[in-house]
Amino acid sequence: MKLSTKCIHSGNHPDPSTGAIMPPIYQTSTYVQEAPGKHKGFEYSRTQNPTRKALEENLAAIENGRHGLCFASGMAATSTAIELLKSGDHVISGGDVYGGTYRVFTKVFTNYHIGFDFVDTTDVLNVKSRINEKTRMIWLESPTNPMLRLADIEEISKLAKSRGILVAVDNTFATPALQNPLDLGADIVVHSTTKYLGGHSDVVGGALIVNDDGLRAKLAFLQNSMGAVPGPMDCFLTLRGTKTLAVRMKQHCENALTIARWLSEHKKVKEVHYPGLESHPQHQLAKKQMRGFGGMISFSMDATLEDSVRAVSSTKIFSLAESLGGVESLIEHPASMTHASIPREERLKLGFEDGLIRLSVGIEDVDDLIEDLAQAMG
Ligand SMILES: *Cc1c(COP(=O)(O)O)cnc(C)c1O
Repeated sequence: MKLSTKCIHSGNHPDPSTGAIMPPIYQTSTYVQEAPGKHKGFEYSRTQNPTRKALEENLAAIENGRHGLCFASGMAATSTAIELLKSGDHVISGGDVYGGTYRVFTKVFTNYHIGFDFVDTTDVLNVKSRINEKTRMIWLESPTNPMLRLADIEEISKLAKSRGILVAVDNTFATPALQNPLDLGADIVVHSTTKYLGGHSDVVGGALIVNDDGLRAKLAFLQNSMGAVPGPMDCFLTLRGTKTLAVRMKQHCENALTIARWLSEHKKVKEVHYPGLESHPQHQLAKKQMRGFGGMISFSMDATLEDSVRAVSSTKIFSLAESLGGVESLIEHPASMTHASIPREERLKLGFEDGLIRLSVGIEDVDDLIEDLAQAMG
């Protein structure tokens, strides 16, 4: 089955008791048993819930994976994946990962003596050179946030596989519509479903998708033990979102490419970061491992920090807000908003300037979006 069909049909089975075409919101904590231990596969809603199960099946199918596990947020999914590790283990992480990921790695998991090395994953050799006998996991984002850099998922997975190291890829930016890390050799796909999968900025959630049965068993154990599960209403909303993922992503990609090209020609723009531009240093890799270039753009203006901040505060259609991936366009200033938890020296090392602006390009009419940016940038 192809992607658009799976988005709509996988996990969505008519309700056997009524024929309802949509999976009901099973707003229940427990399930009546016929006799002790004799039940229909559901005992308690932290462990399993039918609405969550429908979403887990749907997400696994669209990621070309065998098993999906849903969480209360992307950070809950991320934390649960790290809980596979033990004190003393070592993780190699991409340098410009999501701010909350950097925070939980450096401020929470280091307390449990898990070691993290942050490297520029655009070069496989940087990853290779940091591998030591304690390395158990490589954590990648591709494209990264906010620099939109790529990691060669296939090459890094090959490197890891021969050493028994797990590769986790946060696929939130690309979405399963544009990139499938499991097909490229990764072991775990991580999602903040809050973003493109939900797609309407009305729900927070997260997911892990894997192929390996043993890994699924370990993660399901952690999911139930740690208990960071989503409620049925949130699962229902996310499931409603994924139905239109394929069509939404087409429009996000088309609008973003048009805006990235327009920004590249703008006289006040210094640099545009978008994997779909020929000028992007990894455009060839983007064409190889992605089916489209996504809706996220970052750029810097040839202007003072004050002027850049003024520009992000002056748009009328783009809303000034954190988050991304909804149908509506958002603009933000990462250094003072989403990435404020990353120290300035670390940011500068990544080539991430103080004035950098990030766009989450929505699916409005692109002419209106360009007109809005033009007036805000002056
Ligand atoms: C938002 C985001 C997260 C965290 O997800 P939440 O749902 O906000 O907890 C993780 N990774 C990336 C790339 C994100 O954009």
